[in-house]
Amino acid sequence: MSRIVYVNGAFVPEAEAKVSVFDRGFLFADGVYEVTAVIGGKLLDFAAHLTRLRRSLAELRLASPMEDGAILDLHRELVARNAIDLGHVYMMVTRGEADRDFAFPPEDTAPSFVLFTQSRKSIETPEVERGLKVATVPDLRWARRDIKTIQLLYPSMAKMEARRQGMDDAWMVEDGFVTEGTSNNAYIVTQDDAIVTRSLSNAILHGITRAAVLRTAAEAGLRVEERAFTVDEAKTAREAFITSAGAFVTPVVAIDGTGIGTGRPGELTKRMRAHYLEEAIRTAI
Ligand code: PMP
Repeated sequence: MSRIVYVNGAFVPEAEAKVSVFDRGFLFADGVYEVTAVIGGKLLDFAAHLTRLRRSLAELRLASPMEDGAILDLHRELVARNAIDLGHVYMMVTRGEADRDFAFPPEDTAPSFVLFTQSRKSIETPEVERGLKVATVPDLRWARRDIKTIQLLYPSMAKMEARRQGMDDAWMVEDGFVTEGTSNNAYIVTQDDAIVTRSLSNAILHGITRAAVLRTAAEAGLRVEERAFTVDEAKTAREAFITSAGAFVTPVVAIDGTGIGTGRPGELTKRMRAHYLEEAIRTAI
């Protein structure tokens, strides 16, 4: 079945979903995006994704495409039209169509607004069962990683480097410390059961799943340390995992060929995944 895609005010079959070659998203990667997971036809952590979209738009002085309620309606409409039970909604706003110029176009230039869905077969994947192997690569991205921009070339290259090494994904490293994964936040569990993940700053994306998982962990009485950790500390950790709207909580079992803990998905990681999913599904809208 061909998907129905939303493009600038119209729901169209995917083959007809087009934007201009002069779109600033195409020419300058001048745009931001959000990915919201869908389970049982409902949106997970939606309010938080909208809040982050608003922040990304404001940081780049991008115009808002529409009000929050209308954006929620659009998500629901697209999920319904494509009969998505399990999957996600991708939403993107760019600075719109303008003559190619490094200076921003006039403020009244209409932003481009695109949404499409992707479905998936199952919440559980082979990666969740066996755990991910990650390779470390230098973090060569720009310095405003807190803004969720569509300029994803370096993370894409990092992922390909990991694949070239026979691994699943990359963890990026700056000044000796892990920043995050190519499209996820990175965590370790210490030998004394503390969950460690980098604190919020411009160095990482402020993951929506991260916020939810840390909340869940605190509620469960687990110890959380928001601080940077080195690759060496990660290699001697008891467990490791990643979080994102696509992967939820997914175990990491090796870093640069060194097994973490038992070399199998960790028990605390499994518990965090179950807790996160339970809470996210309970509060889905
Ligand atoms: N870090 C980066 C670099 C990402 O691209 C993503 C996913 N877009 C995340 C973290 C996870 O964020 P979220 O939990 O909001 O999906």
